[in-house]
Amino acid sequence: MTGPMLLPGATGLNGSGQPTTLGVMGGGQLGRMFVQAAQAMGYFTVVLDPDVISPAGLVSHYHIKTDYLDQQGLTQLLQRCAAVTTEFENVPAPALVTLGAARPTAPSADAVAIAQDRIKEKAHLARSGVPVAPYAVIETAAQLTAVEDALLPGILKTARLGYDGKGQVRCNSRAELTSAWDALKQVPCVLEQMLPLAAECSVIVARGWDGSVVHFAPQLNVHRDGILAVTEAYAGNMPPALADQAVAAARAIAEELNYVGVLCVEFFVLQEGSPERAALGGLVVNEMAPRPHNSGHYTLDACDVSQFDLQVRTLAGLPLTQPRQHSAAVMLNLLGDLWVDGATPRWDRVLALPGVHLHLYGKLTASKGRKMGHLTVTAATPEQARSAALEAASVLGIAPF
Ligand code: ADP
Ligand code: MG
Repeated sequence: MTGPMLLPGATGLNGSGQPTTLGVMGGGQLGRMFVQAAQAMGYFTVVLDPDVISPAGLVSHYHIKTDYLDQQGLTQLLQRCAAVTTEFENVPAPALVTLGAARPTAPSADAVAIAQDRIKEKAHLARSGVPVAPYAVIETAAQLTAVEDALLPGILKTARLGYDGKGQVRCNSRAELTSAWDALKQVPCVLEQMLPLAAECSVIVARGWDGSVVHFAPQLNVHRDGILAVTEAYAGNMPPALADQAVAAARAIAEELNYVGVLCVEFFVLQEGSPERAALGGLVVNEMAPRPHNSGHYTLDACDVSQFDLQVRTLAGLPLTQPRQHSAAVMLNLLGDLWVDGATPRWDRVLALPGVHLHLYGKLTASKGRKMGHLTVTAATPEQARSAALEAASVLGIAPF
């Protein structure tokens, strides 16, 4: 596939033309960090997000405040920008079809449509030849009845619009499964066998219009209540053979999708000695996200090229270079829970620790589970990064990891 090559800066004689502008669908924190990376390179940016105040809208040159399917909004976006990306997978695919017909759009509507539907996603993962958790599609009462016993205990997940553990119910028996599907209003779902997890990890790859692919080493992720809490990124965070397998799987998935942009693939590491590990191998693909990912935020501070730099480069058709991680890193998510009784967390005390990089997303109200920001601790060694991160966690009231 050939794509654009959109060099940053003003175009036209004597710089009298329009500066090259990149667009993003969605105004959340991922959009904000994309905008910041694009601006650092000299691009102008335009965000489309219906919220009057949004993390990305606050820092972008332009912010179009319409619904994602609003024809006028999409037209304005196209007038402003030379290429478009997205920052969340639930952008309606028809909007991306409209944009993709007029401008280079990455990821494509097709890729996003697959990632936003667990049923399509599982089928794609199977095509890519990577192991997934045993599962069944449940769209009808007959399919519910036909579920094999081996899938229980399991997790029933809505096919669409789930995130941070929302739209999921754990089921230990057929009776629980039936009531879980009722509770989810009988929307299309997948039931996955509950697997014995030793750990979770993810791999971020970036693939260009020309098919070139680069990747970050696998990150080790700790989730709490279905939300990412901690990411540990350093050599030795997982067995090298599993790390190589994860990178190969993520690359295969991107290839099979003919993907352009940044893609994150999440994995389960199965417990040693378990029958599930004997059957499936050590590593199972959980899901993918067609965008930069929370588990890759450490790349802003610990790598010479970040996941957001790569999103800019893939979109603009600039060369991709293999990122180099220069520091061991631990990332802590800063959820709204930390704003106990509305009091601002003691950033001063955290910033007194070595190697702390604070990122807040400009959200004005904190609520439980809301992603307000993150902090990355960088250090020369994993031990130093972990120890400063544990201290930061203790200051902030985040449970140790
Ligand atoms: P979300 O889209 O909300 O991130 P996931 O499918 O990634 O949903 O599930 C959220 C978390 O729930 C996972 O990170 C993992 O900790 C746990 N989980 C999900 N599926 C399984 C499974 N099949 N077996 C064991 N744990 C699971
Ligand atoms: Mg997930």
